[in-house]
Amino acid sequence: MAVDIHFFHKIKLDLQSHDARLIAVSKMKPVEVVKVLYDAGQHDFGENYVQELVQKQPALPQDINWHFIGHLQRNKVKYIAPFISMIQSVDNLALLKEINKQAKKQSRIIDCLLQVHVGKEETKFGLDENEFFDLVKEVVDQPENFTNIHLCGLMGMATNTRDEKIIRQEFHRLKTLCEKIKEQYARQLPYFSACSMGMSGDYELALQEGSTMVRIGSLLFGNR
Ligand SMILES: *Cc1c(COP(=O)(O)O)cnc(C)c1O
Repeated sequence: MAVDIHFFHKIKLDLQSHDARLIAVSKMKPVEVVKVLYDAGQHDFGENYVQELVQKQPALPQDINWHFIGHLQRNKVKYIAPFISMIQSVDNLALLKEINKQAKKQSRIIDCLLQVHVGKEETKFGLDENEFFDLVKEVVDQPENFTNIHLCGLMGMATNTRDEKIIRQEFHRLKTLCEKIKEQYARQLPYFSACSMGMSGDYELALQEGSTMVRIGSLLFGNR
């Protein structure tokens, strides 16, 4: 089965009760399969690779909200700037400035999330807590440099482990960081509200810990 429509309807209900959104992660899945889920009512999709995304985007309905969730190189921002809705994987200042620059060229606003590293894996990208606060402060202090982005929240991934206690702790840390910024900069960062956490293996824990956006691939589309 290409798309698990039964799971799709089940998770839509779950998310409603948590006031959270679904990002369907369609990386490495063909456009025909994406279209099936689109036709079932899903309009938010997540992709990890620039080249794959720029090939798929023109072949699919233009009202899809594309979320970039993979590691993004600065020199590739220009390829997705014309259409991307949200970039969830911002992990350095130079990248955020480049997104602003390319958004400006397109006369667009691009929503951004800061990716925060809380997991144990060395290899995962993301800002540590201090880098996160520094980057937020930069946007707050220099709003004139960020006219074409909205800082909308943060994104994170928990350690890939079966130990629920660890996963819960990590999600809790992400949520706490999000709430802290929301409170501290309610006036300067009015769009800051999203806490994007939870994937196929851990989305239920993420919702319990206050996720506002889950990114789900394999449970919808099968294994990659
Ligand atoms: C691939 C990916 C997902 C989805 O993973 P699944 O386990 O298939 O649900 C979510 N977030 C990010 C950042 C990803 O790279």
